[in-house]
Amino acid sequence: MNSETREKLAARLRYYNDLGLGAFYIDRQSRASRAPGPPPAPQQQAKAAPASTSLPRPALASRPVVNTVLPVLQAPSLFESLDRIEGETLEQVREVLGECTRCRLHKGRTKIVFGVGNPRADLVFVGEGPGHDEDVQGLPFVGRAGQLLNQMIEAMGLRRDDVYICNVIKCRPPENRNPEKDEIATCSPFLFRQLAVIGPKVVVCLGNIAAQTLLGTHKSISHFRGQWFDFRGSRLLATYHPAYLLRNPNAKPEVWKDLQKVMSFLGLKPPPKKR
Ligand code: SF4
Repeated sequence: MNSETREKLAARLRYYNDLGLGAFYIDRQSRASRAPGPPPAPQQQAKAAPASTSLPRPALASRPVVNTVLPVLQAPSLFESLDRIEGETLEQVREVLGECTRCRLHKGRTKIVFGVGNPRADLVFVGEGPGHDEDVQGLPFVGRAGQLLNQMIEAMGLRRDDVYICNVIKCRPPENRNPEKDEIATCSPFLFRQLAVIGPKVVVCLGNIAAQTLLGTHKSISHFRGQWFDFRGSRLLATYHPAYLLRNPNAKPEVWKDLQKVMSFLGLKPPPKKR
């Protein structure tokens, strides 16, 4: 191994160490299953549900049908096997993130946008990344799209404080461009860690980037919007991003249908209509 490779490897190991990963192993079985050949049997059972939180857990009969056919195009990363570290808190994950300079996006940010809301939430919304208002305030979904998300949450019979809201990347990309693959790869482990700590019943991905990152697919959201997936003991559903709805209000009924599925799963009822 030459010195450059050794240095890169050392930097990568320091990064894993920051994330609390201290041991590595080769998953021979998983490697074998990724070898060319017939595809593995689809997963039939959801993982065990996380510890009980504030909302009642629906009876088995009402659990949604889970889609098992979406092809996973990316090999599982090291972080995808990262289990919750018992007793870890969101504050500790935030502390590890620190004043992060792990990717180029740190150069243009005003504030890191880590996430906000109930650390024991049954429902987590995951967006793409901060925009201008979020960058200035250090909070996710506080601009126009955020106001629409708030309305969506209230229409579900919840308050913003009841749920947790975060993004795939924590720093605003220049000119609000889409995050690059390497930026997502560098930042998303912190999202995975946040979700592992919260252990929600449902994760709702808002838009393509969030859905593709959590499901590990390159497929467009239009192929699987509104379908249920298993995600590490949670159920996951992808729907359109509120910013997309601001540009395409005709898509609102589709999103409302998706949210109604989530409400049904969580046993939520819409608030009484104001007179
Ligand atoms: S986007 Fe994420 S990885 Fe990149 S600098 Fe910001 S916090 Fe760090």
